[in-house]
Amino acid sequence: MSAAYKRILLKLSGEALMGDDAYGINEDVVNRIVSEIAEVTRLDVQVGVVIGGGNIFRGMKGAAAGMDRATADYMGMLATVMNAMALADAMRRMDVEARVQSALRIDQVVEPYIRGRAIRHLEEGRVVIFAAGTGNPFFTTDTAAALRGSEIGAQIVLKATKVDGVYTADPKKDPDAQRYHRISFDEAIGRNLAVLDSTAFALCRDQKLPINVFSIFKPGALKRVVMGEDEGTLVHS
Ligand code: UDP
Repeated sequence: MSAAYKRILLKLSGEALMGDDAYGINEDVVNRIVSEIAEVTRLDVQVGVVIGGGNIFRGMKGAAAGMDRATADYMGMLATVMNAMALADAMRRMDVEARVQSALRIDQVVEPYIRGRAIRHLEEGRVVIFAAGTGNPFFTTDTAAALRGSEIGAQIVLKATKVDGVYTADPKKDPDAQRYHRISFDEAIGRNLAVLDSTAFALCRDQKLPINVFSIFKPGALKRVVMGEDEGTLVHS
């Protein structure tokens, strides 16, 4: 069986790299995530990754502590560059070809984001890790995922979270909570479901770019999503 998608945009939160640690990058967790990504690339699926930074620094938290919000957000974006480098290096060690492209220029360290070049890397089978979010404060890496996903012509955004989909209620608090298998953008809005942040969600909806929310901590889930199986929640037009 072949994969359901030729090109995907995987959104990994910074927290996904943390595992059960309280902060930073857990090497075992990163290796496991990378091995799952490697498996997907072997299915000839082109993979773009947007990585968050919440395991290191979040702008909102800095602002809450009295920092200037834009300054704090730039720090958050820089945190995503560190995560991107850790991810790319883990890929190098597992013989997965990868490039980091940053929305903020740090030319000595990583490539700048250049759309055409990113697409070329993807066509050559390299994983492209998009760092520094959108490059703008007041946005999130979810929005960067919707934006880069649209720009590279990804067929779907895969949102990797701790929970294996979108539920009718918080499954940790409500034992009767049911997972949505498939839901339309309009239904998700009508039911006030938080799938991505509102800016990211609106962009995906406008671009008719479906979103599949799934758990990155569930072994094999990424591959099942890519194979088009019922895994997590698919949000569609
Ligand atoms: N950020 C930003 N603009 C962007 C993307 C990210 O300012 O386009 C900053 C923001 O401060 C955010 C931090 O980078 O808190 C880390 O990103 P995010 O919170 O989205 O990471 P995640 O929750 O996915 O780990």
